[in-house]
Amino acid sequence: MIQQILFLLTLLGFAIILRKRIVQISRTIRLGRDVKIDGPTSRRFRNMLLVAFGQKKMFSRFIPAFFHFLIYIGFLVINIEALEFIIDGLAGTHRIFAPYLGGFYTVLMNVFEFLAVAVLVACVVFLIRRNVLKLPRFWSAEMTAWPRLDANIILITEIVLMLAILKMNAADQILQHREPQHYPSTGKLMFSSILIPVLEGYSTSFLIFVERFAWWFHIIGILAFAVYITYSKHLHIFMAFPNTWFARLQPAGYISNMPVVTREVKSMLGLPIEEPGTNEPPGRFGAKDVNDLPWTSLMAAYACTECGRCTSECPANITGKKLSPRKIMMDTRDRLEEVGRNLQNGGNGLDDGKSLLDHYITREEINACTSCNACVEACPVLINPLEIILELRRYVVMEESGAPASWNAMFQNLETNFAPWKFSAADRFNWAKD
Ligand code: SF4
Ligand code: SF4
Repeated sequence: MIQQILFLLTLLGFAIILRKRIVQISRTIRLGRDVKIDGPTSRRFRNMLLVAFGQKKMFSRFIPAFFHFLIYIGFLVINIEALEFIIDGLAGTHRIFAPYLGGFYTVLMNVFEFLAVAVLVACVVFLIRRNVLKLPRFWSAEMTAWPRLDANIILITEIVLMLAILKMNAADQILQHREPQHYPSTGKLMFSSILIPVLEGYSTSFLIFVERFAWWFHIIGILAFAVYITYSKHLHIFMAFPNTWFARLQPAGYISNMPVVTREVKSMLGLPIEEPGTNEPPGRFGAKDVNDLPWTSLMAAYACTECGRCTSECPANITGKKLSPRKIMMDTRDRLEEVGRNLQNGGNGLDDGKSLLDHYITREEINACTSCNACVEACPVLINPLEIILELRRYVVMEESGAPASWNAMFQNLETNFAPWKFSAADRFNWAKD
């Protein structure tokens, strides 16, 4: 009974912490500008199914995709076992499903163990890749101490959790023979039975301690993991789903218009103006801080996996410019978190004397972007770092007239010659003379 009460209190404690964190994240995302979500639902559903659930874009790089897929499947399937843990914990039972499922329970447990070993191997491969092989994209400038540590913490935690499952099952199998009235049979379990010779010589009370310790360790580990990922890049496990659902459906090269500017141009050209509500004055042209960005971009910042595929394809980054699209997403999230903390502590929120532009992302970075969309194409969860870069640039150009001098010459040519070059529109076909 004491164990049941303890379990219930643990569960409630973690649920309260998790709820508080979810409320804080959703509050910061809602700071973003409203955005019209259009396009067919079927396409959005397809994106979510193929890209988030099916990991389609990950497979453009097969080896990491394969190991990532093992972890992903392991995460999905092994968590079904957590359901039994929770029922056992609340009801004070032990392996409640075993007597009902019989032989199928043995199959199920063997599948879980197989996946546990697969996850373990994949995590070791990823640790080697990051820390021994030192893949350049995991060691670039924005991958400072915390992002690197964050990735390692998760990989090591997953290894320890998987080992706990195997150890628990090994101790359990020995106890099934010694005290069958308390330990229902699981049948032979493929991987954990390898550990039986190591534990067999120990006393029953010690094995009960090992089994219980591993059980509590595993369930508390899962609950703590659920809270931890809300502070980590691993939040992508959940955020990838809404992010792929709300991802833009227009072709990659499509640059969204600003309704107030469209209205001005249409009225100058004498064209009909259909968009309702576009005659309201804009709060600000472009974006200086996170609240000027569409809420979908803020959500994307929480969906970023920090994989660096975008940066590894970015021509500006490859040619040594300061720009990294991954850093753009990481900075947006860091600023959002800062504003969230300000609000939670009753502080000034956005009015803390800082802003996304300049305090996190520099003008040198945004000016280096060629708007080629390579980062958008590379992202395995359909994030669009370019959207944020363009909004920041719009602010600099339209609110501060702060474009570099060479750009101003181009703007002037566009205005007078309707082309970026310094030739009159009348001379456009000179090349075709004779
Ligand atoms: S759009 Fe900009 S940030 Fe993205 S890959 Fe191209 S240059 Fe880099
Ligand atoms: S934006 Fe996409 S590609 Fe870039 S680091 Fe984040 S998840 Fe990876």
